[in-house]
Amino acid sequence: MFAARYEPGRKSLIVQDIPTPELRPHEVLLKIQAAGICHSDLHVLDGEVPFPNSFTMGHEGCGQLVEKASEAPADLKIGGTYAVHGPNPCGNCVYCRTGHDNLCNDPGRSWIGLGEDGAYADYLKVAARNVVEVPAGVSPAVAAVATDAVLTPYHAMKTLANIRMEQTVLVLGLGGLGSNGVQIALALGAYVIASDIRDSSLELARTLGAHEVVHAQELDGKVKGKKIDVVADFVGRESTFTQAQMLVRPGGIILLIGLGASNVPLATVAAAGSEIRVQGSFWGTSVELGELLRHIADGKIRPEVETGNLEDVSNWLEELRSGKVRSRMALVPKVA
Ligand code: NAD
Ligand code: ZN
Ligand code: ZN
Repeated sequence: MFAARYEPGRKSLIVQDIPTPELRPHEVLLKIQAAGICHSDLHVLDGEVPFPNSFTMGHEGCGQLVEKASEAPADLKIGGTYAVHGPNPCGNCVYCRTGHDNLCNDPGRSWIGLGEDGAYADYLKVAARNVVEVPAGVSPAVAAVATDAVLTPYHAMKTLANIRMEQTVLVLGLGGLGSNGVQIALALGAYVIASDIRDSSLELARTLGAHEVVHAQELDGKVKGKKIDVVADFVGRESTFTQAQMLVRPGGIILLIGLGASNVPLATVAAAGSEIRVQGSFWGTSVELGELLRHIADGKIRPEVETGNLEDVSNWLEELRSGKVRSRMALVPKVA
């Protein structure tokens, strides 16, 4: 089968013809219908987040269930469409058992498409517990991007920051994650200020209904003094993290989601003196993914998605790198 694979030290994927995976008793096989591309793939390929082993990339996957092994639950349906919960939790550790399965640290597993084989392939095998049924009316492309580009801001903004009506939220970086972050903050009832360096992103945020849209270079002057309860940093560079610290209100929350730099500075006196809370945020739980897919089916969140051919994944990664992907790209296999 087709697979686009990461090799340690290589800056681009290698397309290979590899055997279709064989299932272990608790696994299912999905025929990939859509795979989203994330900026994290570029951080991995650029060596900023290296992995010691080779694997098929693609951590936003959705596919048709075509085979299930002996121990897979009876309610999983052959022919059904399922989204993949990328953190690939074990189900048994203390994090999994206490509802924090995004933080699973079982040593025997890795994240799907980031350490373990992922969705840039014809087929993907995954533990049966780590697929979530896609509700009727949600396309595979939308379901694929829901697994990270929507799930990650949902977990950060709803669960961790507990954004509520009447709060003011500043969203920094309006790409795949941030554009969905704008929608989620709006759905939670917040007053939303959106910022980016790209005109296409600012335009997108306007069409999504952000209350204020401000170019990153003008942000400090235009926003300073407003009571910003939560800053969601979907970039994670020195410039955005510094802006976040300057603009968040005393006692407010900075959501650290973007991984643009491996280190960012924190101003100790200002952060301590105004009791700023810096909240790291990682992906999302399987319960949240199910909940989110139902919100999407109900039309409460309408993920922005563009589509391209899965076989052209390397080209699309370069388009993402050069800032030409406006929202989130889901790649679909060519119809044979
Ligand atoms: P993307 O490339 O689709 O979007 C990035 C956006 O940031 C673009 O719109 C870009 O114009 C904007 N930007 C760049 N520099 C900026 C600046 N200085 N000020 C304002 N905006 C700026 O990327 P994505 O796929 O949405 O991912 C965003 C980040 O989140 C990446 O670093 C990715 O690795 C990370 N990520 C983290 C998690 C997590 O669980 N914490 C999950 C997925 C992705
Ligand atoms: Zn990702
Ligand atoms: Zn676990």
